[in-house]
Amino acid sequence: MTDIVYRYKDQIYFNITNKCPCRCTFCIRNNGNSVGEANNLWFEHEPSLEEIYKAIDAFDFSGCKEAVFCGYGEPTMALDKMLAVSRYVRERYDLRLRLNTNGLGDLIHKRSIAEEVCKAVDCVSVSLNMPDAKSYCEVVNPAYGEKSFDAMLRFAQDCRKYLEDVRFTVVDCIGEENVRKSQELADSLGIPLRVRVYSAA
Ligand code: SF4
Repeated sequence: MTDIVYRYKDQIYFNITNKCPCRCTFCIRNNGNSVGEANNLWFEHEPSLEEIYKAIDAFDFSGCKEAVFCGYGEPTMALDKMLAVSRYVRERYDLRLRLNTNGLGDLIHKRSIAEEVCKAVDCVSVSLNMPDAKSYCEVVNPAYGEKSFDAMLRFAQDCRKYLEDVRFTVVDCIGEENVRKSQELADSLGIPLRVRVYSAA
């Protein structure tokens, strides 16, 4: 059975899709079928809203303050479900909501999605990954090619119009020089950068 809601360390995650237009070299999906307390994060079929609601209602959120849209796929690939799940959760649970995203939702949906996304969550965390388009594409392998980098930056900047808590992330394994350049880029856009310790688990 596939885990839709799972715990990893002290965080709760909503795994709502396996679809993603990227093939990141460090994607955690390359390392196994699950992370944290999940048993399996690969779906036999994409979950219906009813299945997601059922999984949420069956989960014990006691002691949890935040849930993150993040699993074995890009959450904005299932944008309508993400928005519906946000409404469902906010009506029933006292949880802060965060989206972890590759930031390519505008290219996926061929329109700007920042406003609706920002209404649905309290925090947006965008994977910057690399400080320039060429190295970004080498690491992320986005289906949309080099324009993906600018689209991701634009999405993050658009989100800042609607939400205070927007951040970029990189993993420390990209090296000190790329981290430094990423920090400069993030600073120039007025968006905080979080440098994550890479974990293959
Ligand atoms: S965007 Fe996320 S889910 Fe998609 S390949 Fe990259 S790390 Fe994996």
